Amino acid sequence: MTFEPTPQCARRLDEGDPLRDFRERFALPRSAGGKPLAYLCGHSLGLMPLAARGIVMEELDDWAQLAVQGHEHAHRPWIPYHENLRDGLAALAGARPGEVVAMSSLTVNLHLLLAAFYRPGGRRRRILIEAGAFSSDRHAVASQIAWRGLDPRDALVELAPKEGADTIPEESVEAYLKEHGASVALVLWPGVQYRTGQAFDLGRIAQAAHRAGCIAGFDLAHAIGNVPLALHDIEADFAVWCSYKYLNAGPGAIGGCFVHERHDRPHLAGWWGHEPATRFRMGPEFRPATGAAGWQISNPPILSAAPLIASLALFGEAGLPRLRQKSVALTGYLEYLLGRLTPGAQLITPRAADARGCQLSVRITGPQGRGRRIFDALTAQGVIGDWREPDTIRLAPIPLYNTFAEVLRGAEALAQALRLEP
Ligand SMILES: *Cc1c(COP(=O)(O)O)cnc(C)c1O
Repeated sequence: MTFEPTPQCARRLDEGDPLRDFRERFALPRSAGGKPLAYLCGHSLGLMPLAARGIVMEELDDWAQLAVQGHEHAHRPWIPYHENLRDGLAALAGARPGEVVAMSSLTVNLHLLLAAFYRPGGRRRRILIEAGAFSSDRHAVASQIAWRGLDPRDALVELAPKEGADTIPEESVEAYLKEHGASVALVLWPGVQYRTGQAFDLGRIAQAAHRAGCIAGFDLAHAIGNVPLALHDIEADFAVWCSYKYLNAGPGAIGGCFVHERHDRPHLAGWWGHEPATRFRMGPEFRPATGAAGWQISNPPILSAAPLIASLALFGEAGLPRLRQKSVALTGYLEYLLGRLTPGAQLITPRAADARGCQLSVRITGPQGRGRRIFDALTAQGVIGDWREPDTIRLAPIPLYNTFAEVLRGAEALAQALRLEP
């Protein structure tokens, strides 16, 4: 694919894009003045599939007209509602349908899975995460350690990039586990690191963890719907994710989790994880439903699950392999343009396509406050990315709804902002 920093090139790439029509099935945000924005922020909050509105309205109408009978007689009965999401999530996670369930929210699911899978004992008490992990994950892990009467200063290990590097090669994880694995109970690793955009070979991480006798759990907040996953085949023990980023299910949408089918272990329970046939006998004994469905705690939030049905249908139609192919080209174009147009902006995301997803992270150096001012100038020009303290702008072109023309607009706006802020 040949790239040029010109509108003609961007147009040619858009015209040759077999997925270009999917864009019209999303609500495309505009500025206060009504101008189209270049929305490159789907890594933070995905755009609304237009079909979401109809599905949410149907649930509201069913509630209005059927009230409690909606549990069984709604268009999509509410009791087995998670089944509407199962196959679509399994396809994206590379899982068997019984291994995934939409439920609760990301950090809560992380706690639930850590409660079951983090079993410190004797020397093996540590949890290994990446240095600079998303704050919520670090809070979850540190509090799980403390809650068990252990000291996070000892039992929480944060693996840092090598001196001067931003990313962590898989070899570093392998080397750490080879040397110190006997003290590690659980490895919690991101599919795609939220700040750097680095995508990991999760098969290698899982294998290294298992070879050292550790549990391999994954946070896929920035990976699901972004990069191909094969959780079943790589024998991941568990994984969690949210659905409002690449899965476009709306703010605070229902989260999800994966538990490999080989696991049948005690876990925290609630009535919605009970075997459905006998759940409403309300007996005192907990008999779990088979698979990940047995990990549900509460009856699901229908209104925050409904938009995910619309979004997963789009993923099903487009197919992740085709989306990924377009994503590699879109992000490749952004990388090319940043190299051509924005000398002085430092790309911290890996350059190899298989070591990243949609997102590129750009570090802005220079005097105090310069990065933030450049980011604000970008926003003022209608290019929406996001800012991560202390120095990073994140931009993510999304193959379901972004265009090559928007990528060009984003790069040109960044180039201009850099010129105006010496
Ligand atoms: C987005 C994100 C979260 C957010 O957690 P919620 O529980 O959904 O609020 C947590 N961890 C990671 C890695 C994320 O990317």
